Amino acid sequence: QFQNVGFIGLGNMGSRMVNNLVKAGFNVTVHDINRDVMKMFTEMGVSARETPYEVAQDSQVVITMLPSSSHVMDVYTGTNGLLHGDNSIRPALLIDSSTIDPQTTRKISIAVSNCNLTEKIDNWEKPFMLDAPVSGGVLAAEAGALTFMVENAYLAAKPILESMGRTSIYCGGSGNGSAAKICNNLAMAVSMLGTSEALALGQSLGISATTLTQVLNTSSGRCWSSDKYNPVPGVMEGVPSSRDYNGGFASKLMAKDLNLAAASAEEAGHKSALISTAQEIYKKMCEDGHETKDFSCVFRHFYNGKDE
Ligand code: NAD
Repeated sequence: QFQNVGFIGLGNMGSRMVNNLVKAGFNVTVHDINRDVMKMFTEMGVSARETPYEVAQDSQVVITMLPSSSHVMDVYTGTNGLLHGDNSIRPALLIDSSTIDPQTTRKISIAVSNCNLTEKIDNWEKPFMLDAPVSGGVLAAEAGALTFMVENAYLAAKPILESMGRTSIYCGGSGNGSAAKICNNLAMAVSMLGTSEALALGQSLGISATTLTQVLNTSSGRCWSSDKYNPVPGVMEGVPSSRDYNGGFASKLMAKDLNLAAASAEEAGHKSALISTAQEIYKKMCEDGHETKDFSCVFRHFYNGKDE
């Protein structure tokens, strides 16, 4: 039902998601504060706009894929943001795929539901915000194989999500998609730390990372960090560890997600021993100058800087 899709945030994930929307035949309009990346898209024939508000003026649906809560809040409610104007907006559906805290999602969702539509689209009476964070990383974003954690308005959003992802799961009311995403990334951070520590220890005990990876991947230690996103340089092709940890999911974003998990755990009165350990390690990684490197470079934290 929706054809005109706006997209804001053309980074490691967003740029690949836009490519899949374009391939699927949607009319896409993009915006990013980085002019170089905007230029790359205009050269490919995709329309670019100077502000989120201008994107909203052209779009029935707007997707945001931004670093953190403050960026998303700014793009929605800042000067020339998506909700700029007299409480009346063009897009019927606003989808945020960034990983942010459920509280911010719920605040924005209320601000969106307080707006009206400038023109009614089909049977939509009011604009609606859908939190649809993703899992799968840049390779899945490129292959159109992301997993979306979504809630209401799901059926209308489904064709758009399916052009960028393989799986979408309904997680419940507003903010539950964000909560699911934060819990997923906590599990992923801890399993990446465990895999990295095991592979570093294995090498100190004289087993090569390639051999130990084969063992893990056919044994109970197997996980996404060992069999799809191995952290040791040279063990697996096409993953960030094999290109000096460039591209992928920045350590500073993992540190942000662990802070989101810590804040949510505190709010829920939940004890969280592993969150604080993982937080400390990623904080140190960032302080040591690895903040833009992929989060799998945590292997270096355990393994004295020598590659296999
Ligand atoms: P990124 O830093 O590569 O990209 C973010 C983009 O947003 C950049 O191009 C930046 O210029 C743009 N931006 C920042 N502020 C802006 C603003 N105010 N207006 C317009 N554009 C703005 O980040 P990424 O790796 O693409 O991740 C985006 C989100 O997706 C994050 O919340 C991250 O936690 C989540 N995520 C990332 C991965 C991954 O593997 N990279 C996987 C799943 C989820």
